[in-house]
Amino acid sequence: MRIILLGPPGSGKGTQAQRLIERYGIVQLSTGEMLRAAVAAGTPVGLRAKEIMASGGLVPDDVVVGIIADRIEQPDAKKGFILDGFPRTVPQAEALDELLKHRHLKLDGVIELRVNESALLDRVETRVAQMRERGEEVRVDDTPEVLTKRLASYRSQTEPLIHYYSERRKLSTVDGMMTIEEVTRAIHRLLLALGAIEPKTHAKAAQAKTSAKPAAKAAPARRAGEKASKKAKKPAKAAKKASKSAKKAPKGTKKAAKKTAKKTVKKTAKKSAKKGPKKAPKKVTKKRAKR
Ligand code: ADP
Repeated sequence: MRIILLGPPGSGKGTQAQRLIERYGIVQLSTGEMLRAAVAAGTPVGLRAKEIMASGGLVPDDVVVGIIADRIEQPDAKKGFILDGFPRTVPQAEALDELLKHRHLKLDGVIELRVNESALLDRVETRVAQMRERGEEVRVDDTPEVLTKRLASYRSQTEPLIHYYSERRKLSTVDGMMTIEEVTRAIHRLLLALGAIEPKTHAKAAQAKTSAKPAAKAAPARRAGEKASKKAKKPAKAAKKASKSAKKAPKGTKKAAKKTAKKTVKKTAKKSAKKGPKKAPKKVTKKRAKR
């Protein structure tokens, strides 16, 4: 399985990536984490990235593309990977397409976690407060000022990727305002629909009921697409079919997700009305704190 998680800071990419790697045994490739490690180790890359990261800007494309190119060559990435924080610009996405093409690898899909911007600052603030409580070192870019800059970078440089991948029929969107558990379930359903995972080994009975059909259609087509030589027409058709059915499935998922989201939002609103405005998704902050 090769997927990209796309979303602004605080959208829950790290949390969901953690859950995916535990469940499917693939690796998470987080450029943010790799860069932080480089900064901590004082490598040449780290030295180049340090100031840029601290100010909320983006590290040059050639640097992160180089890091990812090396990383996907590692044996542990052979089974598949989740890209978290990469690509972050259109040139990075183009470079990734090239990298994968040269290695005859296929991207299963791009999952966008869509969240209300107003929730992001709260989420990050809570994460910081909890890290402080635990006596952990807080990320230098987790301040309200830098977060505003990170959000601006996301909007201007990363958001165009939504259009990029949707044009290439790779994009699926999940409502990131649902509970962590619900988001995980929605992602799971998408992965089934995309044929990125096998229904029998991973689906629970209830999930299989709703998702088995499109997944069954999508899987053989995807395999055909993977084996496809450039000239072969059939596999191309099959791949098209797969992306169609994959597209169809999220629709149903989206509807269901919307319903649940509405419920959740209502519930949350009620709860926070009682508790005060800062209703923090505990698990999100806990997991994100690890990064
Ligand atoms: P976030 O939690 O904001 O998504 P990350 O942990 O993914 O942040 O990344 C932290 C910082 O590392 C970014 O603000 C940016 O400076 C740098 N960075 C990470 N990934 C990339 C990338 N693909 N391209 C450029 N800069 C990156």
